[in-house]
Amino acid sequence: MRGHSEKSLLERRRLTQPYLKVREDPDHRSGFENQGRKPFARAAFALFLFKPKEAIKMKLFGVSVGEGNTKVGDVMTFSLPSKKTCPGASAWCLRHCYAHRYEQIRPACQKAYASNLALTQDMKAFSRLVIGILPRIMPSFRLHVSGDFFSADYASAWVRICSEFPQTRFWGYTRSWAVPDLLEPLERLREINNVQLFASTDPEMPLPPKGWRVAFIHTDARAKGMLCRAQNGDRLTCETCGYCVQRDRGHVVFKAH
Ligand code: SF4
Repeated sequence: MRGHSEKSLLERRRLTQPYLKVREDPDHRSGFENQGRKPFARAAFALFLFKPKEAIKMKLFGVSVGEGNTKVGDVMTFSLPSKKTCPGASAWCLRHCYAHRYEQIRPACQKAYASNLALTQDMKAFSRLVIGILPRIMPSFRLHVSGDFFSADYASAWVRICSEFPQTRFWGYTRSWAVPDLLEPLERLREINNVQLFASTDPEMPLPPKGWRVAFIHTDARAKGMLCRAQNGDRLTCETCGYCVQRDRGHVVFKAH
């Protein structure tokens, strides 16, 4: 993405992706609707214009770290296999899982996520390893493009890791808040100053406890908050947007993939 201005890349994205607009009918409860081109035209344009950057991974001492993608930008990421590490996934989430679809077409990603999961068999060694290999100069880091916090020990490992990088802003979206045993370690994680953790929900899930930032799906009648700026065409990537990673901001609303 380097070498192009954000404006020109945004124009390209408008050609390829649907985006969300505030619905003009004030009586509509969720207040958001899809705009954009037909799916086939979008897919064809997207293949032409955007390199599938998600396929590129760095392997650092056995840990597969993503180097970003067309949505998050040039941001490091850490992922696990979808579905099997998602104890809080609702039936809706399992039906719409974009990460699972992506793994099916990118076997290299599937393999990298499985090898990351294997490292978590010894959680203390896992956190020591991640603390040892991540660069100290990262401005931000996205937790789980795929996968989720699958156990209390795993969430606690990220409490240790994030606490070691006070200069880095970590952010992620989780449905594991809906698993009673995982809520407490996730509360500890989101209490860390440099961590922004959203409770993902969907029309088939309840709302999280008070105090959580919520990631809604736009078809949810309860949806409120900032329409994802990358999906509504205002920003190219999370890297240039920064809304979710900033403290003291509100909820976010995503279009279902
Ligand atoms: S609102 Fe901004 S930071 Fe959040 S997901 Fe969308 S583009 Fe990324």
